[in-house]
Amino acid sequence: MSELSHKDWISKAAVIRFRDKAFIDGKFVPARSGRTFASINPATGETLAEVASCGEEDIELAVAAARRSFESGVWSRAKPAHRKEVLLRLAQLLRDNLHELALLESLDMGKLVNDASTVDVPGSAAIFQWYAEAIDKIYDEVAPTGEGDLVLVRREPLGVIGAVVPWNFPLDMATWKCAPALAAGNSIVLKPAEQSPFSALRLAELAMEAGLPAGVLNVVPGLGETAGQALGRHMDVDCLAFTGSTAVGKLFLQYSGQSNMKQVWLETGGKSPNLVFADCNNLDAAADMAAFGIFFNQGEVCSANSRLLVQRSIKDALVEKLVERAASTQPGDPLDPGSKMGAMVDAGHTANVMRFIESGKKTARLVAGGEQVTVNGRGSFVQPTIFDDVAHQDSLARDEIFGPVLSVIAFDDEDEAIRIANDSPYGLAASLWTDSLSRAHRVAGRLHAGTVSVNTVDALSPMTPFGGFKQSGFGRDLSLHALNKYTALKTTWIKY
Ligand code: NAD
Repeated sequence: MSELSHKDWISKAAVIRFRDKAFIDGKFVPARSGRTFASINPATGETLAEVASCGEEDIELAVAAARRSFESGVWSRAKPAHRKEVLLRLAQLLRDNLHELALLESLDMGKLVNDASTVDVPGSAAIFQWYAEAIDKIYDEVAPTGEGDLVLVRREPLGVIGAVVPWNFPLDMATWKCAPALAAGNSIVLKPAEQSPFSALRLAELAMEAGLPAGVLNVVPGLGETAGQALGRHMDVDCLAFTGSTAVGKLFLQYSGQSNMKQVWLETGGKSPNLVFADCNNLDAAADMAAFGIFFNQGEVCSANSRLLVQRSIKDALVEKLVERAASTQPGDPLDPGSKMGAMVDAGHTANVMRFIESGKKTARLVAGGEQVTVNGRGSFVQPTIFDDVAHQDSLARDEIFGPVLSVIAFDDEDEAIRIANDSPYGLAASLWTDSLSRAHRVAGRLHAGTVSVNTVDALSPMTPFGGFKQSGFGRDLSLHALNKYTALKTTWIKY
């Protein structure tokens, strides 16, 4: 729980400063066109700031700055031990500015400031620290050619990385791309989502304060179709790392094919199943975590456990517990540390979520929530919502809703549970609850998902790869494996 009170957060919010320009070559600059977009607090409907809306010419400048810094070697050829020191300082600066960063996240996209200050910001600092500490402990290879030849197989930074990220965990998603890419020595042009530009801009400023040279981390706020597309199509971007929807991920593959064949790494959508077997002996824990798995961050989580598959004999008992948990997870003011759920990111997304709920009311049995609400008479909030008796072919069970909407589906045996779980275009994460060790291994092995959590949900750490199967994407964020995305193998063959 955050150490600040509701009143403390409100007074900090009243004086917070929003960085509203692009950050290119170490300086805040307006968009060349002078265009801006409004960043709106979804909990109140108030405009927080008009933010530079970058277009092609701004992307041009940012990529040129990134390229110059990369070729100069000031970061790309700096000793790993030096990169470590700078990134460790950045991790510390994130911690030193915890309250400000948490507030920026909360005001910008509606999440609970309590979660931002205990999960998002500390998580981002921990990831910068983890890659900083790792980078001077990784060795390259010597090929076993034998006498007369010495063959070095080394990993080199790729060059200019474009990173395009979503709004649900703005600072964390930026960090998942920037920390490994910077540790490996690349230069970056980062485009935050238009709903949530502020923490990325502050991150770039803090990175310079930590000692990152100008031009190594550039941030270009702007709309997806303009700034995002310009980055995706740029001829001098070596790699595009994307997190966001599957539909936009597919566009980045096209942009690449139609431009310079840049490497594209996609972390996209999900419809993650949570399987609860009758031999799970702690139904309360399963209910707590199932509720957390779908209501945390208003359900705006790529790996949200949005499909609850329950063995028929325990289904009613589990649903009853979930309805109780939904009742105690109602939306509240995101700045109040006592609130259980925040605001949806914007009015448009709220309308999308409500469309799913309204159509679900005709095809399944609504047992909790189902309404859009306001808090203190304003804002875009949705009640925690549970549908029982959902047919697994129904849109409720197939489409990513990206909101606090749980679909409950009954199954009779293990084979049926696995078949339903895998019958999805997505494969990001899955959870399963059982007291049988054999069943845990058997089922985990057969689920098509990048991460399977057993007797918990959504387990993740900087140490473990995160990413999807099928249309949830490819490549992995986090862990040492993420470094593969931002480096290329170089063979140097020496004859002697
Ligand atoms: P989105 O795809 O709409 O936007 C993501 C980013 O792409 C934003 O920066 C946006 O400006 C940009 N963009 C949008 N249209 C574009 C276009 N035509 N060309 C280029 N760029 C464009 O996604 P969102 O609504 O911001 O986020 C929600 C989605 O993100 C969900 O599908 C969720 O599952 C996914 N997500 C995935 C992960 C993961 O690790 N797999 C993590 C978080 C979120």
